[in-house]
Amino acid sequence: MNADAKPILIIGGGIAGMTAAVEAAEIGYRVVLVEKEPFLGGRVVRVHQYFPKMCPPACGFEINVRRIRQNPRITVHTLAAVEEISGEAGNFKARIRIRPRYVTGEYAVDDSVAAQLTSERDNDFNLGMDKTKALYMPHDMAYPHVHVLDRDALSDADAETLKNACPPGAIDLDMTEREISVDVGAVIVATGWRPYDATKLDNLGFGQYPNVITNVVMERLAALGGPTGGKIVRPSDGKPADTVAFVQCAGSRDENHLPYCSAVCCMASLKQVRFLREQNEKYRATVFYIDIRTIGYLEKFYYDMLEDENVSFTKGKVAKISEDEASHDLLLDVEDTLSGEILHETFDMVVLATGIVPNTADVKIPFELKYDQYGFIDGSTDVDGVYAAGCAKHPCDVSRTTKDSTAAALRAIQCLNRGK
Ligand SMILES: Cc1cc2nc3c(=O)[nH]c(=O)nc-3n(C[C@H](O)[C@H](O)[C@H](O)COP(=O)(O)OP(=O)(O)OC[C@H]3O[C@@H](n4cnc5c(N)ncnc54)[C@H](O)[C@@H]3O)c2cc1C
Repeated sequence: MNADAKPILIIGGGIAGMTAAVEAAEIGYRVVLVEKEPFLGGRVVRVHQYFPKMCPPACGFEINVRRIRQNPRITVHTLAAVEEISGEAGNFKARIRIRPRYVTGEYAVDDSVAAQLTSERDNDFNLGMDKTKALYMPHDMAYPHVHVLDRDALSDADAETLKNACPPGAIDLDMTEREISVDVGAVIVATGWRPYDATKLDNLGFGQYPNVITNVVMERLAALGGPTGGKIVRPSDGKPADTVAFVQCAGSRDENHLPYCSAVCCMASLKQVRFLREQNEKYRATVFYIDIRTIGYLEKFYYDMLEDENVSFTKGKVAKISEDEASHDLLLDVEDTLSGEILHETFDMVVLATGIVPNTADVKIPFELKYDQYGFIDGSTDVDGVYAAGCAKHPCDVSRTTKDSTAAALRAIQCLNRGK
């Protein structure tokens, strides 16, 4: 342990960044964790339950939050972005821009204050499917557990209400953006992923037909904190989705969209079939697939599902989805490649298993780094002192992400100790 070591900068506070932070800090290293959202947790806190154990994300998340909260060596900046990195291994300087939260966190703000407001905003945590007040708690488990104020959404009348309803010093409507500079010895990039834009899949009707949804939307429909309070219902009419088709590789393994396999979509869909089956024993699901990719111990999850007579699997890539205008039911055209038969099947709802796109495909890290052709950070050509972890590096599940992050933390520590 090098007592004089500079901190490690971690960009991205999802499960990858949080894991790297606690692993490094718990053996004595300082960490600066930078997250662009107002809360930590990334995509995992948005899933209803996570495979393979099917536990709610709160399980692992709470433990990680406790480890972060209790560790004075971890500094967390939310609503923050790294604007510039300069220097070299062991001796980097980073400029970080922190956007205003407008809630100081020094005095508790009660939910009853938010309830008095009329100004609302789209709830991005629920993918815009419902609204929150302009003053909101991002989600139940949010860390830091401090409200956020959407200043752009706040009316003048509501600004007055806040002034009168909150303890002095709780809200600062004049809070401004600020910049800080940190000296760090190593950098871990854990910026994660976003879903592939399903509107690009012209033949599958997303954005055109209300009952064609994506796998990330399905997670929020099934979640208790989601827009339907956990009921899996059709967006068009709120009726139960009795029959649901899961369309695998929606854009993935396709030269025109994402040529690679996103590694988690088969397991995510099987898990979501289970969400559906657990809601009502009469609900039926059909999974349209190219191959089912459940590797290693995950295969049991698939084999168990084959026993369920209300779940069927058809090998074939869905060619087209069309809609019955009156009922909003969906008609799928697909060739069953095992029988050679052309099928036309009708469903209440369709879930597109869209793949994983690295956030670094859109926003690059402000430092010279190598990316592969899809925007993932090239793991084999790491710049000395800069390491990638989790979905910034490749599509992967939580289990692989945490191993990856531990490895990145170790490499960062080795960098800090080099020459000592
Ligand atoms: C539909 C679906 C369901 C899934 N279900 C499961 C499951 O049940 N079990 C399982 O094991 N895996 C599941 N996964 C995979 C899981 O979501 C990933 O393994 C996990 O999200 C990877 O974590 P991460 O930290 O690398 O990325 P993310 O979760 O994407 O976290 C990245 C974080 O970085 C932040 N960030 C991004 N850019 C910046 C920036 N420039 N500056 C600062 N912060 C930034 C983001 O806001 C985010 O908080 C699922 C995936 C999909 C598509």
